[in-house]
Amino acid sequence: MAKVLQIGAGGVGGVVAHKMAMNREVFSHITLASRTLSKCQEIAQSIKAKGYGEIDITTVDADSIEELVALINEVKPQIVLNIALPYQDLTIMEACLRTGVPYLDTANYEHPDLAKFEYKEQWAFHDRYKEKGVMALLGSGFDPGVTNVFCAYAQKHYFDEIHEIDILDCNAGDHGYPFATNFNPEINLREVSSKGRYWENGEWIETEPMEIMQVWDYPEVGPKDSYLLYHEELESLVRNIKGLKRIRFFMTFGQSYLTHMRCLENVGMLRIDEIEVNGCKVVPIQVLKALLPDPASLASRTKGKTNIGCYIKGIKEGKARTIYIYNVCDHESCYREVNAQAISYTTGVPAMIGAKLMLEGKWSGKGVFNMEELDPDPFMDELNKQGLPWEVKEMEA
Ligand code: NDP
Repeated sequence: MAKVLQIGAGGVGGVVAHKMAMNREVFSHITLASRTLSKCQEIAQSIKAKGYGEIDITTVDADSIEELVALINEVKPQIVLNIALPYQDLTIMEACLRTGVPYLDTANYEHPDLAKFEYKEQWAFHDRYKEKGVMALLGSGFDPGVTNVFCAYAQKHYFDEIHEIDILDCNAGDHGYPFATNFNPEINLREVSSKGRYWENGEWIETEPMEIMQVWDYPEVGPKDSYLLYHEELESLVRNIKGLKRIRFFMTFGQSYLTHMRCLENVGMLRIDEIEVNGCKVVPIQVLKALLPDPASLASRTKGKTNIGCYIKGIKEGKARTIYIYNVCDHESCYREVNAQAISYTTGVPAMIGAKLMLEGKWSGKGVFNMEELDPDPFMDELNKQGLPWEVKEMEA
């Protein structure tokens, strides 16, 4: 029985709040705070209509440490779930540290003026969290999140040594729009239009955006063009999976998405710096975000499946071994369950699970942790129970 404070009421936030309300034996009292109260209201009404009870709602500006500290002191939660944007990671971490409350998020800190996606500033909190005796869990979504746990599980049960990891993120869903993003457009487009990067033999190798394409055959989906991107979990997995020789990340994109993205980039609509238009200062990518469909609104119209997993090669008892460990998620079933599309669902369910394990004391520690540093077994059990069942496919060596 715990009081929890969730910050952020977007596409992912809706799933986290619903799933916590569906696990009342742990999340007995839920407060949902965000910038726009109407979004919190909609989520609270849906939770009530589905028979999962009441939640409290309020507003907060998560860019303000003082406002956050005041809210945490008022609510007195046993954990804060940061489901706002990566721009708010540092302020929310600081507020949790000052109030001595455990912290969880789903994406690493991003400076509003720089597309960097790195853990440096969040890892820098480690010693202060440790001294205070408080835990922070970073990246409890799907990728990062479940993909890190899949790697830890493979390391624990399937391999003596892991040599190569390819993280594969396939979304074969169709929302019917010529162009839309499945999660926050600003973050999504920053990530996808940045240079690619992978790690091999101790070095980071940079590629042009979308330079490397491979066709991967995804169970229950089929073959799809998959492009090499840099993705934040690579940074922590390189640090935490010992003996690794190479790690890469691939994501599928349809031709319509890629053509629109290239065109928008060519005309300057993905720029993250300020420009002046008729005396007003605007950031082009923020204008684009305002024009694109809200990712949460894709939920009712998306059909098809996602397949996200880790293709892992290594050695077990002297023999070469290759496995693919993955989850398949159906957009329409997610909508039926919690009014969300599968990208929000696959991110929101692991956030709830991370918080559940921390509140139950199954995952504990003092300091700042990435997912693969904790015991994967209880998390893998919860995935099966909470709507994200997984499979392990043994491949020919
Ligand atoms: P949305 O843009 O849909 O929602 C973000 C929410 O945060 C909105 O409710 C927004 O409020 C709120 N918010 C933004 N700024 C502030 C602020 N200063 N103070 C208070 N609230 C604020 O994003 P998503 O739900 O798609 O994504 C949520 C998070 O999940 C992001 O960090 C994203 O990167 C991460 N993610 C992680 C994935 C993973 O697998 N690990 C995959 C997909 C997403 P308002 O409504 O007013 O804008």
